[in-house]
Amino acid sequence: MESISQAPVSVKHIPQRTCVACRRVGPKRELIRLVRISGRSVEVDTGGKRIGRGAYLCPAPGCWQIGLKGGRLEHALRTTLTQDNREQLIRYGSGLKELISDQDK
Ligand SMILES: [Zn+2]
Repeated sequence: MESISQAPVSVKHIPQRTCVACRRVGPKRELIRLVRISGRSVEVDTGGKRIGRGAYLCPAPGCWQIGLKGGRLEHALRTTLTQDNREQLIRYGSGLKELISDQDK
C-alpha cells in the first residue's frame, strides 16, 4: 500500500516579476522588460523573449525615472549605461505617459 500525496494542481502558476524602481510585484505581461544586449547596450524588450539578462519596470514614467536616474536598473542588470543609452531609455519611459494620458501622436 502506498500513500499518495498529491500536490494541488488547480492553481495556475503566473510568473511574477518585480519592478526594479518601486518594487511592485506583478504579472510579467504587466511590466516592461529591459534586456542587456551583449556589451553595454540595454534595450526595451517588447516581446519579452530576447536572450540576455533582464530587469523589469512598470509602464509608468515615474518608475523609469527612478530606475534610470537612480542607477537601479544598472544595478539590476550589472551594467553601466552609456549616456546615449540612458537618454534613449528615459525617452521611451517618458513616452509611456502619452500612451496612458494622451492619445495624441
Ligand atoms: Zn514600478
